[in-house]
Amino acid sequence: MTAFKKVAGLSGMKDALPPESGRWEQLEALVREWLAGYGYQNLRTPVLEYTRLFTRGIGEVTDIVEKEMYSFVDPLNEDRLTMRPEFTAGVVRSAIEHNFLYDRPRRVYSMGPVFRHERPQRGRYRQFHQIDVEALGFPGPDVDAELIVMLARLWRLLGLSDIRLELNSLGQAAERAAHRAALVAHLEKHVDVLDEEARRRMQTNPLRVLDTKNPAMQDMANSAPRLFDFLGEESLAHYRGLCARLDDAGIAHTLNPRLVRGLDYYNLTVFEWVTDRLGAQGTVCGGGRYDGLIELLGGKPAPAVGFAIGMERLLDLWQQGSDAQAPAECQVYMVHQGDDGQRQAARLAEALRDVGLRVLVHAGSTGFKSQFRRADASGAVVAVVIGGDELLRGAATVKWLRTDAAGEGQQETIAFGDLAAQLQQRI
Ligand code: ATP
Ligand code: MG
Repeated sequence: MTAFKKVAGLSGMKDALPPESGRWEQLEALVREWLAGYGYQNLRTPVLEYTRLFTRGIGEVTDIVEKEMYSFVDPLNEDRLTMRPEFTAGVVRSAIEHNFLYDRPRRVYSMGPVFRHERPQRGRYRQFHQIDVEALGFPGPDVDAELIVMLARLWRLLGLSDIRLELNSLGQAAERAAHRAALVAHLEKHVDVLDEEARRRMQTNPLRVLDTKNPAMQDMANSAPRLFDFLGEESLAHYRGLCARLDDAGIAHTLNPRLVRGLDYYNLTVFEWVTDRLGAQGTVCGGGRYDGLIELLGGKPAPAVGFAIGMERLLDLWQQGSDAQAPAECQVYMVHQGDDGQRQAARLAEALRDVGLRVLVHAGSTGFKSQFRRADASGAVVAVVIGGDELLRGAATVKWLRTDAAGEGQQETIAFGDLAAQLQQRI
């Protein structure tokens, strides 16, 4: 006899099974409502894009492009393709391609899987999911503030506390260039404490060196020249405009002058929402302004700002703080006996679904006892029984499975014709 071997799923790519998948659906539904409240509309792009979209958009010298992308050559025509490691580049590509943002500015969102070849651990996966929100064509800082106010509302809706906002401004290209010279001089002076990656980054992307988590480099990073101190009046005014609006909304914020982001396209506003409740991977949401990206990807220059939320981290945080249950399999479980009983149960189930109830009809010819066990396990509020007696009487036996269900008696009889109306009213 041949023994077939199991095929495992990929490391760092998770399955979501019921009931946890129900929490995903609840979160997605809540998020769509929340976004609609601010006029955001859904923009859906393919998972696959040309690799050059990301090398150009995200930047050659970033973690993502250097070592995290799932790229391959299309065997059919030799195109170099990449599974999206983030949404922004694809959204901007799409908006340019369809002339979507020039008649008026646009607020759009995407939600779905992204792919990065990272070392899997809690809060860090190879396929993970983002809620990505982009405001295209707005110079800010009003919209920058709106995005952050919006996020504070989401945390409230989910009952999350202990999540704090860190802000920085990355200024404009000329300010970054002036700062870069001072920063490189500082790094050269402290070259003995730099790790291998920092030494490499020192020439290519020195700002990223400040993002280090290496404890041996913290003093060096803290004493480094701050980009914030190189900002001119216009950049500072933008930053102050944002802070004033956050104050208006009562949102606490801290300047973190070392906050940079792992993607090259940002300027002016950058922010992260961070929590201590998720262990090492505490960043739930990161975002900022990317006024140069649309032009860099071949579009007519237009400002833009956005953010991405990591859904696995958000879900983890939500589940910690709430005792809400994933939805039960059904509200009504139909128990039956005999061929005629099954057929009547199936007919009644359709009538119950007509009035909006969620109904499971037991499948297979098992005894009442095991059917009731299944009914209990399903999380149903009532079991509706159709056996020989019920068929004769033309009335179902209704057994309430939860004592908390609207003070119902344990068991009663309801005529087939009244069942839908009665249960609709009482469940
Ligand atoms: P990190 O510093 O944690 O690597 P990042 O700067 O690479 O984050 P972004 O590119 O800004 O992350 O992505 C936005 C959000 O997506 C992050 O704030 C985080 O919540 C989530 N995220 C990023 N990488 C992963 C991953 N590998 N697995 C799960 N969630 C992730
Ligand atoms: Mg990362």
